[in-house]
Amino acid sequence: MRTYALNAGSVALLQDLRVWDALPPDARTAVWDMRVQGDVPAGRRPAALHFSAYEQSVQALAWIVDAAELDAVLASAVRFAPHITVVAEAVQAPLTVVAEGKDAASRAALGVKVDTQAYGHSGVAARLRSDQPHAGLARQWFRSPDILALLPFDRPSPGHSYGLVWSVPQDRAQALLAMAPAEFEQALAQATGGEAGSLALDGPRAAWPLRLSRAQAVSGPGWVLVGDAAHVVHPLAGQGLNLGLADVQALAGVIAQREPWRGLGDEKLLRRYARRRHLPTLAMAGVTDALWHLFAQESPLWREARHRGLQWVDRLGPLKKALTARALNS
Ligand SMILES: Cc1cc2nc3c(=O)[nH]c(=O)nc-3n(C[C@H](O)[C@H](O)[C@H](O)COP(=O)(O)OP(=O)(O)OC[C@H]3O[C@@H](n4cnc5c(N)ncnc54)[C@H](O)[C@@H]3O)c2cc1C
Repeated sequence: MRTYALNAGSVALLQDLRVWDALPPDARTAVWDMRVQGDVPAGRRPAALHFSAYEQSVQALAWIVDAAELDAVLASAVRFAPHITVVAEAVQAPLTVVAEGKDAASRAALGVKVDTQAYGHSGVAARLRSDQPHAGLARQWFRSPDILALLPFDRPSPGHSYGLVWSVPQDRAQALLAMAPAEFEQALAQATGGEAGSLALDGPRAAWPLRLSRAQAVSGPGWVLVGDAAHVVHPLAGQGLNLGLADVQALAGVIAQREPWRGLGDEKLLRRYARRRHLPTLAMAGVTDALWHLFAQESPLWREARHRGLQWVDRLGPLKKALTARALNS
């Protein structure tokens, strides 16, 4: 049921790998517009931020991709790549790239410490179908205590499907998973105010506990960490996998540009990768964490401040453009 929002940088990497074009057309949907709404203080009209590919002069703000299909196409690319050998057991290699996700066992074996902060929230994901066309519009509601995203998608109903990512406190996530479909759909209707039409479940639901984490080191002699093994961010901006793919691209670049006498596991070489990724990953962790804390505040004063902030950013064209450009290429 998972979908990923991929940015232009990730799509370019997948195109280079000839993986992007192998995805069936209904497994990748372009996002033309995005509407971000906040909570509405008593007596106020709803405020919203609008982003558009047209305003940004880009082909699309993001692409929503079927996670299982992307896995399958990557697995098939690996099978047919003559320079890749799949091994069943650990082998000696000059460079080991640890890409085992947030609980990476090899990272622990390397003795790398990780700073972790659990959000106490879970991300509920599901596939939905609407009675109204999505028109390439991604919708997001930032409120206290939940953050809800509807990502336009073409599977299984072309033009009418959505990927749902709903970040809620953990007990609420359990309740949402336990609800009968009709009750869940009613909760969704309430949370979205029917703005995306009447939404029906189109498959199973699942939830993932959310955390912020960062490895204290991402490189050493003969090893590097990439993706969630190196850093985990809140999915409110849909940037986790994008950061991981940007790690891969940076590492490939560092290796390709190395001096001829430097081996693949050279500590100094791998430190270049660590340096290249330090600021972008720190910045994304900082932004997503700050947004989460900003919207976690329940008091009316905070609601009012958020409401004004949204209106303010929406009117400030250059700031909005800069924010979008940042998200388009992590
Ligand atoms: C609800 C939710 C929604 C999200 N939405 C988005 C989004 O829209 N866009 C986005 O960019 N990101 C999103 N993310 C974040 C994204 O899912 C992660 O950042 C991304 O999956 C990390 O990729 P990874 O390959 O580093 O780790 P993982 O996806 O965790 O993959 C690691 C893999 O390694 C395997 N593995 C582990 N140990 C070994 C071993 N020893 N040998 C072999 N294999 C091993 C695991 O089984 C797993 O398959 C979302 C996250 C959540 C929770």
